[in-house]
Amino acid sequence: MSVRVRIAPSPTGILHIGTARTAVFNWLFARHHGGTFILRVEDTDRERSRPEFTHNILEGLRWLGLTWDEGPIFQTDRLDRYRERVQELLDQGLAYYSYETEAELEALRETQRAQGEAPRYNNQHRTLTAEQIAQFVAEGRQPVVRFRIEDDREILWHDLVRGEVRWQGRDLGGDMVVARADGQALYNLAVVVDDIDMGITHVIRGEDHIANTAKQILLYEAFGVTPPQFAHTPLILNAEGRKLSKRDGVTSISDFQAMGYVAPALANYMTLLGWSPPAGREVFTLAEAAAAFDLGRVNRAGAKFDWERLNWLNSHYLHALPPEELCDLLIPFWAAAGYAFDPQADRPWLELVAALIGPSLTVLKDAAGLSQFFFTPQVSYDSEAIAQLQQPGVVELLQVVSEHTPEPGTLTPAGLQAVVQAAVKTTGLKKGVVMKSLRAALMGQMHGPDLSQSWVILNQRGFDRDRLAAAGLLLAGSGTAS
Ligand code: GLU
Repeated sequence: MSVRVRIAPSPTGILHIGTARTAVFNWLFARHHGGTFILRVEDTDRERSRPEFTHNILEGLRWLGLTWDEGPIFQTDRLDRYRERVQELLDQGLAYYSYETEAELEALRETQRAQGEAPRYNNQHRTLTAEQIAQFVAEGRQPVVRFRIEDDREILWHDLVRGEVRWQGRDLGGDMVVARADGQALYNLAVVVDDIDMGITHVIRGEDHIANTAKQILLYEAFGVTPPQFAHTPLILNAEGRKLSKRDGVTSISDFQAMGYVAPALANYMTLLGWSPPAGREVFTLAEAAAAFDLGRVNRAGAKFDWERLNWLNSHYLHALPPEELCDLLIPFWAAAGYAFDPQADRPWLELVAALIGPSLTVLKDAAGLSQFFFTPQVSYDSEAIAQLQQPGVVELLQVVSEHTPEPGTLTPAGLQAVVQAAVKTTGLKKGVVMKSLRAALMGQMHGPDLSQSWVILNQRGFDRDRLAAAGLLLAGSGTAS
């Protein structure tokens, strides 16, 4: 039997890291077994589902490289099919109409709470008489459809991650609502109908669905179908060991994109969130991970989100990129930072900047700060740079260098050496002092990228002249004598 798995996001929000990680595991499992990976959009919650969320989810999955073989299948296209299946349950007496009002249900829960019991439906409308039903109908009550769950039922399955899992019917909250008053099916029913119709062989999803699995197994039984195999993956936890949530800030794939994590790094990292690759290997493509993927190596314990590991992986991928590709990725970040450039005309120059700052990047967003001084004629001088500029002989040095600086766009590494040599000769300063002072004047700080490469980049825009002049004025203003 060939493997068929699915990712079934609800488009009630943008793509969450938890859903993406579930998608990764399903994709890896499908690819490992030469099976089929299906995308199903669970959009039956009409109030909360939005097309822009669907768009974001599909784009996010594509961006990560999680291509699907079938779908997207939209549950809202299948409402009639769910109605049909609900009717079958009703016809077999496995489900029934339940007429309580919301106020009555709330009162029931209140009584249970007051008695120190967990709130649950007490199955009271299982056995309504024809008169009672007629009365409710006459009152205009709209019934929901409930599926019978016997208290003494034991539900048992062999989970591919967690081993044997046992549930008692009485812990499932009473007979469950499978369709609303308007006839629309609810989550558990729709999922089972879909998973049957789509021939799903393995349901791999987060462990927050374990109780749903118990309920769904009863529905499979009601439909006379052998359930698929289940694998419940561990939750993703924050540094405090609690479920990663919106409060942790960065949780959606869009957030990670905006910070400048690249798809191969994030996909690689997500495979490690709960899966232990053989031989402790850490860096791999999705295809490589698929070759080794095995649900038996998925951990039961929660997977702690480890920023350091993700950052390390991201740097690793960024540093391996050729400048042209890095440049493509950086352009949106430079644009977002508000820097002025022409992506076509300035392309060679942008690639020089990308090549220079590339090794210092952890995330693409770092590029804004690291490359700011290449995009603006002015630079601000920090105290260390000012102290360097105030060294004896620097005023004269700046004058000499200004006189020898070639026209914008003509400075080469060899030309730069000639300028430095001329400056050393004329001022009598040591080469080290000359270089440090030039760094201070051109870059405004004593740390940062390579001076020679930076100077060539600045010269392309003529900013070296601006800065030499500005540093000179700064010194004149502060009254520093040469
Ligand atoms: N729509 C559900 C969710 O997003 C899918 C659960 C499942 O895989 O069955 O959590």
